[in-house]
Amino acid sequence: MGSERKVDIEKVKEELEKLREEIRKHDYLYYVKGEPIISDYEYDQLYRRLLELEKQYPELVTPDSPSQRVGGAPLEGFETVPHNPPMLSLDNAYDEEEVKAWETRIRKALGRKVEFMAEAKIDGVAISLEYEDGLFVRGSTRGDGYTGDDITANLKTIRDIPLRLNNAPRGHLEVRGEVYMTREDLSRLNKKREAEGQPLFANPRNAAAGTLKLLDPKEVAKRHLHAWLYYIITKIPGIDTQEKALEALEKWGFQVNPQRRLCRNLDELFKFYREVEASRENLPYNIDGLVVKVNDLKAQEILGATAKAPRWAIAFKFKAEQATTVVESLEWSVGRAGSITPVANLRPVLLAGTTVKRAGLFNPERVAELDVREGDTVIVEKAGDIIPYIREVNYALRPPGTKPAKPPTKCPACGSPLVKEEGIVGLFCRNWECPVQVRGRLELWASRGAMDIEGLGEKVAAVLYREIGVRDPGDLYFLKPGCLAHLRGFGELSESNLLKAIEKSKDRGLSRVLYGLGIPNVGSETAALLASHFGSIDKLMAASKDEIDEIPGIGEKVAHEVYNFFRRKEVKNLIAKLKKAGVKMEEVAREVVGPWTGLTFVITGTLPSMSREEAHEAIRARGGKPMDSVSSKTSYLVVGENPGSKLAKAEKLGIKIITAAQFEAMLAETPPAK
Ligand SMILES: [Zn+2]
Repeated sequence: MGSERKVDIEKVKEELEKLREEIRKHDYLYYVKGEPIISDYEYDQLYRRLLELEKQYPELVTPDSPSQRVGGAPLEGFETVPHNPPMLSLDNAYDEEEVKAWETRIRKALGRKVEFMAEAKIDGVAISLEYEDGLFVRGSTRGDGYTGDDITANLKTIRDIPLRLNNAPRGHLEVRGEVYMTREDLSRLNKKREAEGQPLFANPRNAAAGTLKLLDPKEVAKRHLHAWLYYIITKIPGIDTQEKALEALEKWGFQVNPQRRLCRNLDELFKFYREVEASRENLPYNIDGLVVKVNDLKAQEILGATAKAPRWAIAFKFKAEQATTVVESLEWSVGRAGSITPVANLRPVLLAGTTVKRAGLFNPERVAELDVREGDTVIVEKAGDIIPYIREVNYALRPPGTKPAKPPTKCPACGSPLVKEEGIVGLFCRNWECPVQVRGRLELWASRGAMDIEGLGEKVAAVLYREIGVRDPGDLYFLKPGCLAHLRGFGELSESNLLKAIEKSKDRGLSRVLYGLGIPNVGSETAALLASHFGSIDKLMAASKDEIDEIPGIGEKVAHEVYNFFRRKEVKNLIAKLKKAGVKMEEVAREVVGPWTGLTFVITGTLPSMSREEAHEAIRARGGKPMDSVSSKTSYLVVGENPGSKLAKAEKLGIKIITAAQFEAMLAETPPAK
């Protein structure tokens, strides 16, 4: 097209800096303050513009650019990082007496009374962050306290961790804190893992720890980790108390635990402890006590540390949500994805306000590891809304004559022999017609992320299985009117609604079909990758294992699962049924219904304030259709700088022609569809 335009690098730099500043501001408002002032759409526009410019001028990418949060490629492994001073753990105090004894020791050592800074203790994973001249350069795990793993790329994905600090001190700065996951994010993650047949995380701490050790930062980004910082390692002039340190951290842009208080004496401390303990159920994350620190940093230095823990801090723990009881029996059930799940039936015990009768044991490997047996005395623990689980077995109290628990060899639901698969934790029933799995498959197929069939939940799936003989999702599409209406709980209206919903689900497209099939380890993101790569189910089914493996973002294990899944006779039958029913198994473009639905737009020339792609995206977001060439069906031709031959053609056809400025005004007046 036009002549090479000389680009003013300084101008680009300036725009980039402005964009980054803007994005940082909105990140802070959204992630830290929880008070966004622009829509997600507007935010996306800023972000895209940044990515586009950085792609065009890679030499202008800075390490603190918001784009660098998820830019990391998967890692081969982690480097180690030495910790100096070491990341020690804290001594625990379980009641007021123990705290008093600790205070007495401090008073004796210092010869005076001190004030305490108390902070709610998040049940998370300790991290260390390093900054150079205010730029985030390295982050690491605690490891053994003396050396940890370099997890910088993963930590960059956490929005609570600033890549660049506000008015931070020059030179080297090291701060320490904790990464955590909310209970809601954990339960969402576990639901997804359950649907995908992956082992569940026992509690938010395990989930956070597991996530930080993932090798792919993009996966980490999806898990929504949070971070609180609570300690400055580097000596900073003017910061001589822990209270001031927390204020400084906050001012620099870190997230700091809001539940904190300066306590002048033990009475104030105990009062704060009771307040925080009473609040814990209402918090979205788990806390397990207070961390109490001597406020005066000078005094901290004098007190020093033992080899194990600092003398100037203590973890004042809440009474654990733990209880001791006896395992009456072990039960093995089969999950919806075919995995065998052991459960312990317990002598009922009161735990965190509810009577607990069962505790999860996750998988046969866990049972073997704990060596839990019928008749054992165990400590059960509960973390938030997660089902209680067995923390510990008291082997000393084991009655004589017990034998190690033996996992079943046959599926408890259908009697098929169970299989152990190489490299995968757990034991599986691979009988396609296993009733639990059939019902699970129907539910997954109907779920919102898959075919979104309203009215088909757990109960209806069970009825369809038991009363009508539905054996796989394909059968749904051959249900005849009248087949359900006579059943209890069904009327003609609910039958016709269900059949309509099933009919409507035929057009969801390949990616949702693939997710709904419940291929082991294939979640919605993997399904979308497969769908966009292959475009149709036939091509995917004809692909070799290597072809699947070569898709970026898909690992060998998943490739193996996908390939094997489609070799199964039952799957081939199911796909044939779906085809016969007219279920669409090609990839469909995401269609938005909005104010511009039914309108088509063609753009010619360069738009002053947005790229072609952005303009197309903006049109799509409002339900309109961007097209590449003008035809009699075109609604608008948008004319930018240096228009091409499209303009003449549109004039000839009598198409409505608008300027870039008019187009932008239209965009501004018409908000995108939600
Ligand atoms: Zn079975």
